[in-house]
Amino acid sequence: MHEFSIMQNLLKIIEKEAKANSLSKVNGITVKIGKLRQVVPEFIEFAFATIAKDTIADGAKLNIESIPITIHCEKCNKDYPVIEDTYTCPDCDSLDIKVITGKEIILASIEGDQ
Ligand SMILES: [Zn+2]
Repeated sequence: MHEFSIMQNLLKIIEKEAKANSLSKVNGITVKIGKLRQVVPEFIEFAFATIAKDTIADGAKLNIESIPITIHCEKCNKDYPVIEDTYTCPDCDSLDIKVITGKEIILASIEGDQ
C-alpha cells in the first residue's frame, strides 16, 4: 500500500505547517490528490489515522479532494481533460502530449487550535 508512504510524507508537511502557524493541535486537513496516483480514499484515511496517532494531528478529520487528469497537446498547444484513460489529443489524435495535472499531492488546508 503506497498510501502509507504518501501519508508519512504528508504528515511531515502537516507538522511543519502546524509549527509555522503555532498550532498546538491539528483538527482537520484537506488534501488534494491527483487521479493518476490511484489511491483508495479508504486506505488513505486508514493510513492517516494510523500514522497520525500520538502526533499533533491525532484524530484530525481528513478531507480528500481529487484532482482530475489533464493533458497538454504539443501540436494544438491546448489543454484537455483526460476522459476514460485516453492519452491522445481529442482534436488531432496526436500522441505528442504531456500530462499536466493528475500526479499531485497537495496539502490544501490545515485547521487547528493555537
Ligand atoms: Zn492536438
